[in-house]
Amino acid sequence: MSRPLVATIDLDALGANLRLVRQWAPGQQVWAVVKADAYGHGLYRSLPGLAQADGFALVEFDRAVRVRQAYPEHPILLLEGAFDQHSTSLAVEHGFELSVHDEQQICWLETLPGPRTLKVWLKFNSGMNRLGFTQAAFRLAFERLVACSVVDRIGLMAHFANADVPGGIDDALNRFERATDAIPGQRSLANSAAIHDDRTHVGWVRPGIALYGASPFADRSARSLGLVAVMRLESKLIGVQSLLPGDCVGYGSIFRAGRPMRIGIVACGYGDGYPRSAPTGTPIWVGGKRTRIVGRVSMDMLTVDLDPVPEAGVGSPVQLWGDKISVDDVAQSAGTIGYELLCRLAPRVPVRVHGSATVNP
Ligand SMILES: *Cc1c(COP(=O)(O)O)cnc(C)c1O
Repeated sequence: MSRPLVATIDLDALGANLRLVRQWAPGQQVWAVVKADAYGHGLYRSLPGLAQADGFALVEFDRAVRVRQAYPEHPILLLEGAFDQHSTSLAVEHGFELSVHDEQQICWLETLPGPRTLKVWLKFNSGMNRLGFTQAAFRLAFERLVACSVVDRIGLMAHFANADVPGGIDDALNRFERATDAIPGQRSLANSAAIHDDRTHVGWVRPGIALYGASPFADRSARSLGLVAVMRLESKLIGVQSLLPGDCVGYGSIFRAGRPMRIGIVACGYGDGYPRSAPTGTPIWVGGKRTRIVGRVSMDMLTVDLDPVPEAGVGSPVQLWGDKISVDDVAQSAGTIGYELLCRLAPRVPVRVHGSATVNP
């Protein structure tokens, strides 16, 4: 019998989240962001759930080539653009759209002959100071792109450092508007958090995390936003211990029972991608009820308090995160964000795909 830990990817939930994003941003075109192996959900298995998106955006060049093979008609955007001269030429060959965020990338484009087939997205540095041209350099970069023999269309793009806090995009949006005033072309501004501000509805939106059913905000749950979890990480109890007052659990003996209690042993640990930093108290769902983990997470196992579920025993179902326990809640307990936990699902965890995702509403 196989180890009971399984991740289930719900393609219908992906489709539902995409439809919800379209309601948030009516009339906008949607890049489904599928970088980092579709946020840990598996790129190729996730694409069918997102086939109704207007395009796919990612950063991995090799992955983009395979997305192109599977979806010859979808626009594909490389969010970090090309990485060298060779990938610049290949991007043109494959018909990828390229973010252009650095002068060096323009130099690579300038060497290429026509015809004018390439769509680029000139990236504005709105204050995050990660990628993009500042206001002073933006206009010149635009003019150089116009002069490139291979460049057909130029979109204008920015990314926000603080879209998840109230008022967080005001300043960056002003800068973008000032820098791009009177420059023609499509616009793309919003990630999942920024989509909630309609000032960002200026053409294309770029949701990532929302599509996977997790929240981009620290203080608003995915459920309250109407999102549905796409990944369920589920296992079973493989052992039970009865503790007497003073008995400890796990490495370092960091949890000590203050009273007699039953402890369940779950087949899931940091070797599976569950965060070792999750402390006692982190929520988990066992045998139909919400309870908490206790003691230190080890590589293959973690331990849970069975007091709220006296009926639980070996074989009882456990959800680490999914529809019962939000990945964001686990992440918050562990001092990180849902994005990281989803991306970190370990290769050894078997993945099951659920849903048809072929339905067009
Ligand atoms: C990752 C990424 C996104 C998606 O961000 P979410 O917060 O996951 O919605 C959008 N735009 C760019 C440039 C990105 O790198």
